[in-house]
Amino acid sequence: MTTRQRLPATALAPYAAHPETSRGRRFSEPGPRYRSEYQRDRDRIVHSAAFRRLEYKTQVFVNHEGDMFRTRLTHSIEVAQIGRSIARALSLNEDLVEAIALAHDLGHTPFGHAGQDALNACMREYGGFEHNLQSLRVVDELEQKYAEFDGLNLTFETREGILKHCSLKIARELGDVGERFLNGHYPGLEAQIANLADEIAYNNHDVDDGLRAGLISVDALCEVAFFERQYTGIERQFPHLPERRMIHETVRRMINQQVTDLIDTSQERLQSAAPKDVEAVRRHGQGLVEYSDEMQKQNKQIKQFLRKNLYRHYRVQRMSVKAKRMIQELFRVFMEDGGLLPTEATGETSIDEQESQVRARVIADYIAGMTDRYAIKEYHRLFGPEQLT
Ligand code: MG
Repeated sequence: MTTRQRLPATALAPYAAHPETSRGRRFSEPGPRYRSEYQRDRDRIVHSAAFRRLEYKTQVFVNHEGDMFRTRLTHSIEVAQIGRSIARALSLNEDLVEAIALAHDLGHTPFGHAGQDALNACMREYGGFEHNLQSLRVVDELEQKYAEFDGLNLTFETREGILKHCSLKIARELGDVGERFLNGHYPGLEAQIANLADEIAYNNHDVDDGLRAGLISVDALCEVAFFERQYTGIERQFPHLPERRMIHETVRRMINQQVTDLIDTSQERLQSAAPKDVEAVRRHGQGLVEYSDEMQKQNKQIKQFLRKNLYRHYRVQRMSVKAKRMIQELFRVFMEDGGLLPTEATGETSIDEQESQVRARVIADYIAGMTDRYAIKEYHRLFGPEQLT
């Protein structure tokens, strides 16, 4: 044999995202030598400052509540793990799913949804604030470390996956990634997977963290049939298992069943729709990565339970109210006096000369980039009477 031995052809399905047919990057660059384009996206995300900050940001529990809870960083890694398993089983592009999963929460404010709601309210007159759009803004503009472009210059497919939803008004301003919202198309299958992997991850880890925090109980959770079925099944099988292990075993079985159901259902859908390529997936008219109807019902029950018993728990509410107040106060004080902003946030020129819309966006970017603990410190630095330095 004179020809050099080649690695086996990738086993990607025809409707998977193939890096060689990517719609490309905003600024063209020479292709990587030893990585695929999507691996390069993932690597850029992992090396970004916004990614490192995910370690100190939370979804439900404020970061310093305890070391055992999920942070946005561990959440994103769980989403990537679940997403990759699904992608591999469906012969889709694992690297792309991983890139989307690791980037999907980069735009989140400190203090989870309370922080995002507060910042959105502050920004009402200035174009609003939405974490999903902010994640795209982080990778497109705010990370400033490459010599030749602002942002990370990611491929279209990763950016498409990051932007899960957006209003039609904003879609019109976004160019290529906004188009699908205007013409009713779907994103590629890898983006669809990342989206559902996100949901599987947070539903299950919120159950786990909620139990650990003592905000919800096993007894109460047993009103959710899906949880109850796993839990009592394990109890029969292992009657003397300590509770912590019971809970972990229950959560792991729930994740496993949800993932398996999603793969089976999506497999069937893909077989019957048989899209010939990614473009056919985008134009299919409905999502092709889905749960069965039964699993959808069960998921709804878990979500309803968490909304009622965890997200609205008075202890979570107290954290939320405090978090909102801090965000509102920070925003107000910076709007009143842009000279209080650090130069890292504004660049060398004062923002007080700028029109209010521009000032508000600089402030929103600065606040959104804060970790939970940084926001608390910044609040004390600005409002704590004991700190006059
Ligand atoms: Mg998420």
